[in-house]
Amino acid sequence: MSFPHSTIEGYPRIGRNRELKRALESYWAGRIDQETFLSTTHALRIDTYNHLRDLGLSEDYAIPADVAYYDQVLETALTVGVLHAADLDAEFTLCRGNDTDTPLEMTKWFDTNYHYLVPELSGDAFDPAPERIVRIFEEALAAGHKVRPYLVGPVTLLALSKPVDFSRVDELVAAYKTVLAALSDAGAEWVQIAEPALTADLSVPDPELAAIAGEAWTDLLSATDRPNVYLTSPYGSLRAGLDALAKAAPEALHVDLAPATLQADPDYPARVRAAVGEQTTLVAGLIDGRNIWAGDLRAKEQVLSELGTKHVSTSVSLQHVPHTLNDEKSLPVDVAGWLSFADEKIAEVQALVAGRFDAAEAFARSDRAVRTRAESTKLHNAVVAKRVADLPEGQVQREPAFAQRVEAQRSLGLPKLPTTTIGSFPQTAEIRRARTLHRNGELNDVDYDARLREEVRDVIELQERLGLDVLVHGEPERNDMVQYFAELLEGFVTTDNGWVQSYGSRCTRPPIVVGDVSRPEAMTVEWAKYAQSLSDKPVKGMLTGPVTILAWSFTRDDVTLAESADQIALALADEVADLEAAGINVIQIDEPALRELLPLRADARPEYLDWAVRSFRLVALNAAPTTQIHTHLCYSEFGQIIDAVAGLDADVTSIEAARSRMELLEDIDETFHSEIGPGIWDIHSPRVPSVAEMAELIRAALVNVPVERLWVNPDCGLKTRSYAEVEPALRNLVLARDEVVAAL
Ligand code: GLN
Ligand code: ZN
Repeated sequence: MSFPHSTIEGYPRIGRNRELKRALESYWAGRIDQETFLSTTHALRIDTYNHLRDLGLSEDYAIPADVAYYDQVLETALTVGVLHAADLDAEFTLCRGNDTDTPLEMTKWFDTNYHYLVPELSGDAFDPAPERIVRIFEEALAAGHKVRPYLVGPVTLLALSKPVDFSRVDELVAAYKTVLAALSDAGAEWVQIAEPALTADLSVPDPELAAIAGEAWTDLLSATDRPNVYLTSPYGSLRAGLDALAKAAPEALHVDLAPATLQADPDYPARVRAAVGEQTTLVAGLIDGRNIWAGDLRAKEQVLSELGTKHVSTSVSLQHVPHTLNDEKSLPVDVAGWLSFADEKIAEVQALVAGRFDAAEAFARSDRAVRTRAESTKLHNAVVAKRVADLPEGQVQREPAFAQRVEAQRSLGLPKLPTTTIGSFPQTAEIRRARTLHRNGELNDVDYDARLREEVRDVIELQERLGLDVLVHGEPERNDMVQYFAELLEGFVTTDNGWVQSYGSRCTRPPIVVGDVSRPEAMTVEWAKYAQSLSDKPVKGMLTGPVTILAWSFTRDDVTLAESADQIALALADEVADLEAAGINVIQIDEPALRELLPLRADARPEYLDWAVRSFRLVALNAAPTTQIHTHLCYSEFGQIIDAVAGLDADVTSIEAARSRMELLEDIDETFHSEIGPGIWDIHSPRVPSVAEMAELIRAALVNVPVERLWVNPDCGLKTRSYAEVEPALRNLVLARDEVVAAL
């Protein structure tokens, strides 16, 4: 059974109208019963297969069945028996926890914005549940589709689990053999097994991991009772792993040949060609599944002919891009012509499979995209280019140094262990309703603005009442901390329906950086000024930093991230100047995504950290010494990049810490000179921490941080919480601070 000529690595699961999200959330909320949930999600899967066949993935096994209710890593872990769930509700408890059980940890899937659940290895023997994957194959078969069942590979599964324990690889491979045998019994002729761990720098050194993979895969493929195996290597180029996997001789092998991969590893096609033997069908992952730009099909044709294969796929799963451009009604026409979402990428795959499809239309679209983008005036802005060119090279340094700034900032008159919050206050149902009405034109600008001002006033009053020291306006005007700025900056476009799964039922709609970025007018000043007018205490101006804006957007492929970051930094620096002129003396520049963009390859990390830190410093570069610059980080462990966090040279750094009980403070050494606010309230949980609990965390922090440098604040913004939690929790937070200060 030969491998299909055109295929994809995976497809968005969430549904064109976010059907999966709705089904999950309705089921969790008890609005639909299990039977309805199962039939709705069944219908979604079959509709998706029908849709993909209609798009031309009509060869047997061309459609990957990368099916999961919540996460593909969890699905594989349950299938091969690394994890167990007695029923659907037990499965969701692994994802979300309940009153008694904590959920599995969640973390980034390679360097994407998708988050997977980290399987926890227990000491128990692996006990595979192949019926899960067999059911997926059989339900498709019953609907007339021979789909390709999908598994995360054994090496990747172990590499991503906790603890990382490769001594169990033989046992795990045996479990995979059981699953493959069951698939073979069910009549499946192909299975897809993904090993992206071999393209990344994980905790295990590359050659060592390659050796483990070589043995595991030789063993797995020695099984005779199994479907043909399509072994895939998305998210970068294989290094030592290439020979290891090629020697194991799977029936088909996929390699990632996206432009970014080729740029980082120009010899990759030649190495692949040399390594892969006759018995293996080579599948060229040429169409970029990571971003939304229309592919340059002529360039890809070139790579394809170099490789000498006739089988084409995407570089990675299309789960990272939105469904289709057909759902976009307000994109500028020229920009729409430059983009390809999942469905448009499938047409690109097919165009490259010469002779099987009518490629003329796809090539014409690609040619037009390349030409009109090159000629467009939307990409380049001479004023921005000049400003960036005039910037000093290398690292920049705010003057004077922290020690003098801290003196200048005494004018703020803050007490010992000052209290503050991270920015957002609860986005109540009323606020969201007002935003929807405003967007639909049912609430006019004036009334909407009045509604938001009312909210800001309430938030300021509440903070005054609770006795917080540095106030915030609460961010009611922001739908999202990145989208808000993207809508106000020149150089971005935003989509109507460009939803991408972030984790579970959560989706985001990343903006797209199309051209040079500039700021037509002030973006946050009116809100900050209004909030400050309501209080004698300092109110923080609130900005999202360049790295986070880029991390949560689709970025340009014609300039480097570093260049876009400089441009965004200049726009934000202008905003800082305007905030200062409006009398704002404390400005927070959020960079929660600083860790997220850290490259997978260790050798690429120093360069990233250089430009990332520089872009932050550019935003603050010309701030007056009396202006206290805050930053905020969350969502990950920062130990690995703590030097870079220190290097931001902010005056105050608030950082998520409550869940890890201040563990990160052990990483803070002399190089970290700024003031610091390790979060003492885990806002991801609805629990209201007691005064005693928070006081204990403050005292724990004081072991590592001197009292003059410690701040007291929650872990993150409060936008997902309710006032019923926020009010008592913040009251306790202030009381906890008072208690600790009284005992000093
Ligand atoms: N200022 C933002 C807020 O409070 C920060 C959010 C974040 O760190 N993710 O919502
Ligand atoms: Zn945060």
